[in-house]
Amino acid sequence: MKKVLLLNASYEPLNICSWKRAVVLLLKGKATSVEHQGATVNNDMALPSVIRLLYYIKTPYKSIPLTRKNLMHRDKYTCQYCSRRGHNLTIDHVLPRSRGGRDEWENCVVACHHCNTKKGNRTPEEAAMPIKKRPVRPVNFMNFEISKQSRDLTHYQDWIKYFYTI
Ligand SMILES: [Zn+2]
Repeated sequence: MKKVLLLNASYEPLNICSWKRAVVLLLKGKATSVEHQGATVNNDMALPSVIRLLYYIKTPYKSIPLTRKNLMHRDKYTCQYCSRRGHNLTIDHVLPRSRGGRDEWENCVVACHHCNTKKGNRTPEEAAMPIKKRPVRPVNFMNFEISKQSRDLTHYQDWIKYFYTI
């Protein structure tokens, strides 16, 4: 069944809903279509892939747990030293744990086994291995979770531009 990305009035991802629910929101004038596909409903309304609420919903703040899966998602399953993807990936502590480096979003990056071994007990500067992208803590829980869930969905290409923190 086709899924639709529901955005808040602010364009932040809010949820994933069924296309039927999306059409109801559009017909009730509660949302507007932002992205759509060629297919139509009753030949007059393009089937949406992304819709946006016309009113703002306040969402509670939730922190995102530091887990292997979440780190992999933040770094797009890509080694942050050599850009190798999805192969033998590990978690590297930028400042090694043996030297006081902590388990924090800002101190952990995805690294392939080769780079992790090569870097060893050194900092990126000492090893002359610059990090591709400075590791940060993702702040928007909904944005992060929805982008994680939707990675394998067919509309991901339509949706990806709305996921801004990863
Ligand atoms: Zn690597």
